[in-house]
Amino acid sequence: MFQFFKKNSLLKLLPEVKGKYLTNVSLSKHTWFGVGGPAEVMYIPHDSDDLSFFIQECPKNVPVFLIGGGSNLLVRDGGIPGVVIKLDSPAFKQVSVGTNEITCGAGLHNIELKKYLLNHQIGGLEFLCSIPGVIGGSVKTNAGCFGREVKDVIKSVQIMNGLGKIKKVGVADLELGYRSSCFPDDWIILSITFVTTPDTKENIEKKLNDQKAYRVAKQPYNQKTAGSTFKNPQGLRAWELIKKSGCDTLSVGGAKVSEKHCNFLINTGNATAKDIETLGEIIINTVRQKTYITLEWEIKRVGIDK
Ligand SMILES: Cc1cc2nc3c(=O)[nH]c(=O)nc-3n(C[C@H](O)[C@H](O)[C@H](O)COP(=O)(O)OP(=O)(O)OC[C@H]3O[C@@H](n4cnc5c(N)ncnc54)[C@H](O)[C@@H]3O)c2cc1C
Repeated sequence: MFQFFKKNSLLKLLPEVKGKYLTNVSLSKHTWFGVGGPAEVMYIPHDSDDLSFFIQECPKNVPVFLIGGGSNLLVRDGGIPGVVIKLDSPAFKQVSVGTNEITCGAGLHNIELKKYLLNHQIGGLEFLCSIPGVIGGSVKTNAGCFGREVKDVIKSVQIMNGLGKIKKVGVADLELGYRSSCFPDDWIILSITFVTTPDTKENIEKKLNDQKAYRVAKQPYNQKTAGSTFKNPQGLRAWELIKKSGCDTLSVGGAKVSEKHCNFLINTGNATAKDIETLGEIIINTVRQKTYITLEWEIKRVGIDK
C-alpha cells in the first residue's frame, strides 16, 4: 500500500517539466461523485514530448495514476499518493477529420465530439457523445451504450508506453472487453482514430436528442454519480438483482441507491467515499446471500482510506 511522501518532499523528486505541477489537489473537484481526498501532486503535461520526458525521468518509486474525466472513479477519502496525471492541455484535445475517420486527442471530452459530428455530417459516434468523461477514459473502459461500444468504432490508437515511447496500436492489442481493457497499466492513450460513416445533420441531431431524452427519463441526470455501479453478470441485469434482493432503497450516510435506476449510487450532497463504498459492499453481500450471484464493481475504486 502506497503512502504519501513527507510534507512537500515529492515535488523535489520530480523532473523539471514544461507542464504544471499542482499540489494537494482535491480530487472531489475532478470526479463526478464529488468525493475523495487529494492528489499529492497533479501533473498537467504540456504536450506528449513533455509527458515522455516526465515518464522517463520520474523516479520509479513514485506511483503514477492517470485520471480522465473522473466519471467512472470512486477516489477514497485519503486521496491518491504520488502523481496523478491529467491530459488537460490543448495538445491533448486536438481533433482532425478525415475521410470516414476522425482522430481525437485523449483529453477531449466526449460531449465535445458533438459539434464535429454535426458540422462535418459524420455518424456512428453519437452514442459516445452521451457518455460522460473524456475519449481516453472511454477507450480504457470500452464504454458503450445504445447497442454500441468503443471497440466497434476504433481504427487505431496512439499510446505512450512505460518507457515514454509513442506507438500506434490496433484494436486487438487493446484487448477491449465488456467495460474493460487488458493492455498494460502503464500505457497512456494519447489519441484515437475512430471509423465514421457519412450521415445527414438531421439524423445525427435526432439520435443525439433521442439518447439525451432516454437518459433524462431513465437515469439520474445532473446528479453526483459514476454511472452503473456494477457490471451486468452474463445474461442478467445488475439492477434486477439489486431490486430483487431488496437493495433498491438502501442508503449509508450521504450515499444512496438512485430511485430512478438502482444500479446507480448517488452522493446526495455530503457523502464520503467510505459511505459510497460501504453501500456498494452491502449491496454485493446482500445480492450474494439472496441470489448466489456476486456482483462485480464496474466503477474503479482508487486511492487510500482516511
Ligand atoms: C451519469 C453517468 C452515465 C454513464 N453512462 C455510461 C454508459 O452509458 N456507458 C458506459 O460505458 N459508461 C458510462 N458511465 C461511466 C463513465 O462515463 C465511462 O466509463 C467513461 O468512459 C469513463 O471515462 P473518464 O474519462 O471519466 O475516465 P475516468 O473515470 O477518469 O477513468 C477511468 C479509467 O480510465 C483510465 N484512463 C483515463 N484516461 C486514460 C488515458 N488517456 N489512457 C489510459 N487510461 C486512461 C483511468 O486511469 C481509469 O482507470 C457513466 C457515468 C456517469 C457519471
